[in-house]
Amino acid sequence: MSDEASTLSGLPRLALRYGRRVLGGIVDFVYPPHCVSCGAATTRQAALCVSCWSKVRFIEKPFCDILGIPFDRDEGEGMLSPLALAEPPVFSRLRAVALHDGPARNLVHGLKYRDRTDLAPMMAGWMLRASDGLVSGCDAIIPVPLHGRRLLMRRFNQSAELARALARLSGKPLLASALVRIKPTRRQVGLTARRRAANVRGAFKVRDDRLHEIAGKRLLLIDDVYTTGATVSSAARALLRAGALDVSVLTFAMALAKPI
Ligand SMILES: [Zn+2]
Repeated sequence: MSDEASTLSGLPRLALRYGRRVLGGIVDFVYPPHCVSCGAATTRQAALCVSCWSKVRFIEKPFCDILGIPFDRDEGEGMLSPLALAEPPVFSRLRAVALHDGPARNLVHGLKYRDRTDLAPMMAGWMLRASDGLVSGCDAIIPVPLHGRRLLMRRFNQSAELARALARLSGKPLLASALVRIKPTRRQVGLTARRRAANVRGAFKVRDDRLHEIAGKRLLLIDDVYTTGATVSSAARALLRAGALDVSVLTFAMALAKPI
């Protein structure tokens, strides 16, 4: 129950609850709830139908302790993937909710390309559950920023929407604009890993007047999709250079180079 409702009692509380139910009913009547992935009718707004839900490939243990990449078989706690051993990332740990395909991919695309910012609270709830202690262990949550020009075109930053919803759910501070994108980069889609890294090299910077919010902090960087890690690595590098104690990464989806 929300704070304002818990401070009310008796008749006002009943009226508030009834009012909300009526309002919710009107919203459902005007915009009948439907599955955000396949369009089938559902009982709640901003949800998946049972069929799509069952197709989400949630990432569960066993997975690489650093990169969160799922393993075929359980080889015990603390196991690392060959990728994490060969190329240790600049960030400490990465966790993601689901593999970037099917309904999970449709959720990401709905938020990013179809202005479905109403999906962010639900997606952030899933991220909190998948965070494996990264949210509870951080001092602040920070989204991967868009460049000003891209933000103007898209009108919102999908990573910031997820980060804001996650901060609200967890009670952790949100550092919304401390990290900025100083280089207008090409879209990463379709680029090789090497070109992705070159594309975002030196793209991020902590604002001089916000350095005190970063220095000595354990930060959790939020993005919608993890692909090669080029973007979050570049952003993490800028945060560490600005004195962050530790940077981990939490994304909604993880796109794997090789199917598992
Ligand atoms: Zn569906």
